[in-house]
Amino acid sequence: MRRAVCPGSFDPIHNGHLEVIARAAGLFDEVVVAVSTNYAKKYRFSLEERMDMARQTLASLRGIIVEPMGEGLLAEYCRHRGISAIVKGLRSSSDFDYELPMATMNRQLSGVETVFLPAEAHYLHLSSTLIKEIFLLGGDVSDFVPKSVLKRLPAGESAAEQPRNG
Ligand code: ADP
Repeated sequence: MRRAVCPGSFDPIHNGHLEVIARAAGLFDEVVVAVSTNYAKKYRFSLEERMDMARQTLASLRGIIVEPMGEGLLAEYCRHRGISAIVKGLRSSSDFDYELPMATMNRQLSGVETVFLPAEAHYLHLSSTLIKEIFLLGGDVSDFVPKSVLKRLPAGESAAEQPRNG
């Protein structure tokens, strides 16, 4: 059984994430989507919401499970869960520069390999941060996120829905 992990905040999960997870599922017997919690980070959605959205969206795909990653080291999580590969999507050379030392460190710490998949051209520009920003400023994000996420973005929080001064 070849098991891989796609780790991330998924705050919220978007179409770029989904594409990489689906490709990982084609390469491995099982893919764990590990939803991280970092108490130094401020999330828009709670861990439960982030996991729910990921579970709903990925329910139709075989061989994928969604679970919390906890707070510890990813290398330890992989060792504990019998995971042999970390799968990461790469959008740019800056993603690569950021990921390379972590990949080397994770391999040194626990022997886990990191597999980089080039992001699909349509999704190169997608990030959870940008999508949240567009939404808050009243933009249409329906091309970027699955339905399970769209219905959770409360209309009242979009700038388009806010009463304006003056
Ligand atoms: P973080 O844990 O850094 O907040 P995210 O939850 O935003 O990361 O993303 C998790 C992982 O998903 C990233 O490390 C990257 O591998 C992948 N990813 C993010 N955005 C894209 C995208 N647009 N296309 C492909 N892969 C992506």
